[in-house]
Amino acid sequence: MVRLNREEKLKRKRESQRRYFAKNKDKINAKRRACHAKNPERFREQHQKWYRKYREREILKLRERQHVLRKAVMKKLGNKCVRCGFSDWRALQIDHIDGGGNKEKKEIGQDKMYRRILTMDEKKLVNHYQILCANCNWIKKHEMQETVGHNLEGTRTSKFIQ
Ligand SMILES: [Zn+2]
Repeated sequence: MVRLNREEKLKRKRESQRRYFAKNKDKINAKRRACHAKNPERFREQHQKWYRKYREREILKLRERQHVLRKAVMKKLGNKCVRCGFSDWRALQIDHIDGGGNKEKKEIGQDKMYRRILTMDEKKLVNHYQILCANCNWIKKHEMQETVGHNLEGTRTSKFIQ
């Protein structure tokens, strides 16, 4: 018999666990939900413990996922500013054509907004979202009177604050 080293053994164990989970997913999840309903406090504690241990790894994973998602969204929207053609992704922003972007982000979160864009029909998409560079986005905000403050003439630029 071939003797396996510790790492190989662990790897096999993990794979078999994964296979088992895939096969019995519904059963396991139902059991988990029942347990959680019985004792939510304990679950919360366990989750906190797990999160403290793997916090950094999880943050990195999340950032990676968001980056991939953002890249896909940018690609679908054309990868450049629709006003001036600027194309360095570091200063490109997703703009809501009719305004209200911050409101949507607050309501459903950035991730969901990205997913909504990715699943949206292309024809519908062009009426809702576009890419603007940071400069054009600020200029548009002034044009639409979405900024808070005054313009150079000293008049209020915001339609929200009178
Ligand atoms: Zn621009």
